[in-house]
Amino acid sequence: MSLSSSPAPRPSQPPRIAVVGAGPAGLTAGYVLAKAGARVEVHEGSRFIGGLSRTLDLWNQRVDLGPHRFHTQDARIDALWKGVVGEDWASVAAHPGVFRNDGQVLRYPLQVLDVVRKVGITESVRCVLDFGRQQLRPLPEVRTFEDWLVQHFGRRVYEQFFRDYNEKFFGRPCAQVDASVSGAASKDASLIDTVINALRMRVANARASAVKQVTEQFPYPQRGTGEVYERMAQAIRASGGEVLLDSRVEALQVEGRRVTGLRSAQGPRDYDYVISSAPLVPLVAQLPSQSPEVQRALSDARDVLTFRSALLVYLEVHGTDLFPESWLEMHTRAVRACRVTNFRNWVPGLHGAERSTILCVEYWCAQDEAIWSETDEHLARLARTELESVGLLGKAPVGRFHVVRLPRCYPVYQPGYQRVLQPLQEHLSSFERLSSIGRGGRFSYNSQDANWRMGLEAADEARAVLGF
Ligand SMILES: Cc1cc2nc3c(=O)[nH]c(=O)nc-3n(C[C@H](O)[C@H](O)[C@H](O)COP(=O)(O)OP(=O)(O)OC[C@H]3O[C@@H](n4cnc5c(N)ncnc54)[C@H](O)[C@@H]3O)c2cc1C
Repeated sequence: MSLSSSPAPRPSQPPRIAVVGAGPAGLTAGYVLAKAGARVEVHEGSRFIGGLSRTLDLWNQRVDLGPHRFHTQDARIDALWKGVVGEDWASVAAHPGVFRNDGQVLRYPLQVLDVVRKVGITESVRCVLDFGRQQLRPLPEVRTFEDWLVQHFGRRVYEQFFRDYNEKFFGRPCAQVDASVSGAASKDASLIDTVINALRMRVANARASAVKQVTEQFPYPQRGTGEVYERMAQAIRASGGEVLLDSRVEALQVEGRRVTGLRSAQGPRDYDYVISSAPLVPLVAQLPSQSPEVQRALSDARDVLTFRSALLVYLEVHGTDLFPESWLEMHTRAVRACRVTNFRNWVPGLHGAERSTILCVEYWCAQDEAIWSETDEHLARLARTELESVGLLGKAPVGRFHVVRLPRCYPVYQPGYQRVLQPLQEHLSSFERLSSIGRGGRFSYNSQDANWRMGLEAADEARAVLGF
């Protein structure tokens, strides 16, 4: 999101470009611009590189923030990713599973026989008939995520496969989530295409095989998702740029409609161009010349552009053969846990010679829910008790624990949220030499590849404007 202005003459000094945030969006932009000859300075507010896609060193192993698979159908992004990672990646076969209310784990990709065996022939037939009925009598309007799911799968499948998990995720009924989330959700939810395939009985057709390739096998760095971002940061530094940690950006410097620099925790600096992946609302709040409509949108944003937060509880389990899936989506209402990742089942580079398994148990919540303020000890006890109760730990003893809190990490699309988002985006676009990108910068519930694309587009835009 930025203004085009007439290209400046080719500068004699390398252009100075600031990037706010060392997550996938910011680092992609910074990496490409550094390679193109710019002097890039990345300001990262935290102590970490990689944002939500970072990898942690934990108990002599490497772990991501929940399951992080990278998939793209964009050749430019694929080539860039492989250029950064070099040979140090493996093609990982995803083994997610769906843990249901009845304690059954459905295999992914869904196989008709597996589903029929576990869900039962009668229920399977009912689902298919219900799906057929829905296709004959479509909903007059698809406004909410519930409408979208019911329209695409029938109410029975919605209730069987989607409702409980998504309600845990969003913290509200799917009828209170905007239908536009279906784009992101369908890309991320392993069930959707496979259920369609199972229902339509055309697993072998060309589209299905394309989808299978994208989601079943994905390239994964030997030392975790964050390895890519650590390497991008190294490359920026090697090109003479900087990646400054603990450098939260507090304000932008603006002259007229042009952004000329910023002030971070490390003081003010001048730049020719600023690319920000910081959250949109505080960014707009820093910009001058707000119309009454923008001011109203800023004040409505608190209630309308809301987020879910996540608590990630890592447990060290003394055993190596707990369950075969790489992650389990906990559809069951028997536990509050939403997803469990088993890092033992990703690539050997993560666990090395260690003989234990690290599980990551995710709890999604709002920051005003009681669980957000619980102590680490309480959360570790909860995670352990819940996993024991559904039989995921077997007899393996649990050792250490570690808790990571991710505030405001999932944008929630409430019905009508675009009404508030749009004036804010338009105000941002009215400033020159500024791009706002990324999950927070666009209020976009998306995956890494979408943020790489935004980073690439912002880099192209900066190069066009600055003429290099
Ligand atoms: C649990 C979980 C699982 C996920 N699984 C997947 C998956 O399987 N596949 C996939 O592709 N994606 C997945 N994602 C999504 C993916 O992590 C994000 O889409 C991606 O990291 C967003 O990149 P970003 O750069 O836009 O934002 P972020 O990763 O959030 O990075 C933004 C950075 O900006 C910094 N920052 C913010 N404000 C300021 C400021 N004012 N000054 C300086 N720095 C600032 C932040 O500290 C942060 O480091 C998952 C996300 C979560 C939470």
